[in-house]
Amino acid sequence: MIISMKLHSTKQEIEQVCERIADFGYKIHAIEGEERVVIAAVGVGDVTPCLESVEAMPQVEKAVRISAPYKFVSKEFRPGKSQIRVNGCEIGGDEFIVMAGPCSVESEKQIMQSAEAVAQAGAKLLRGGAFKPRTSPYDFQGMEEEGLKLLAKAKKATGLGIITEVMSDRDVDLVAGYADVLQIGARNMQNFSLLKCLGKCGRPVLLKRGMSSTIKELLMSAEYVVAHGNPNVILCERGIRTFETVTRNTCDIAAVAALSELTHLPVVLDPSHATGKRSLVPALSRAAVAIGADGLLVEVHPYPEKAVSDGAQSLDLPQFHQMMADLRPYFQLWKASRVTEAATAV
Ligand code: PEP
Ligand code: MN
Repeated sequence: MIISMKLHSTKQEIEQVCERIADFGYKIHAIEGEERVVIAAVGVGDVTPCLESVEAMPQVEKAVRISAPYKFVSKEFRPGKSQIRVNGCEIGGDEFIVMAGPCSVESEKQIMQSAEAVAQAGAKLLRGGAFKPRTSPYDFQGMEEEGLKLLAKAKKATGLGIITEVMSDRDVDLVAGYADVLQIGARNMQNFSLLKCLGKCGRPVLLKRGMSSTIKELLMSAEYVVAHGNPNVILCERGIRTFETVTRNTCDIAAVAALSELTHLPVVLDPSHATGKRSLVPALSRAAVAIGADGLLVEVHPYPEKAVSDGAQSLDLPQFHQMMADLRPYFQLWKASRVTEAATAV
């Protein structure tokens, strides 16, 4: 249940409402907005008696039952879109944010060349895995802390924010020491001990959709992170596994639009893992902008043919540059519709 307090309610009025909810045995999370306080009551059982009681209190504007099992991430909890600040830019705001870089950090030369090129083309964050979730134990597993140090060096040189994957709750503090955004890979979307740990990591989290996960399961995983204390979650559609074999995964582009109806969290698209083919990346990127995603996570490599992972789906540097140039008119349309949406929402 979500309770919206009247504008400028006093501390005492809010406490009275919280006490009433607590009398019914529900757990309370109050979120203070600039003008209005919203209270989430979480618990089991029929909320009707509590809802009716709270609704009758004069300081309460509205109390709504949340039918979805996720609460904090639902649109009912926050009708607009959440903006997440990362290294001086805003994801979910009025700029389409591109995050780009290699699948894996491989060497200083590779990451520095990538960082300089993607920054020049207009990306705001540099991606690159230092801990890699590989299907085979014999494949390259990542440079680990040495890779994180190279990412930090690239950040220093270019000013780009860093997004990199963390695979285990053991490494959260280490990765959070270097990264601006912690990426949770598709294979770990339901690693619940990792999700709980992210609640306290102090960094925004980009949560990728599991390859066999429903939209609802993705939202439930995001709910874990938020319920454990971290409201800064970005969702990422990266394709799901179907019977199709031409593409590596099947891009569920409708999920981007569906998520925007269900949640206030920003949503980005990863066109690289969604297709597995670099030739398809520009078309899907255009689709992401057109459908109103908040950004892209794209794989780019200075020499894709030499990449230790995901070379076939990585754009080379000139291709990325060209794609960004080709997207420019789409970005303008995107921005115009964002501004209109924001104006009509007020
Ligand atoms: C990646 O971003 O390189 C990656 C491993 O992605 P996913 O978890 O979506 O497979
Ligand atoms: Mn990859």
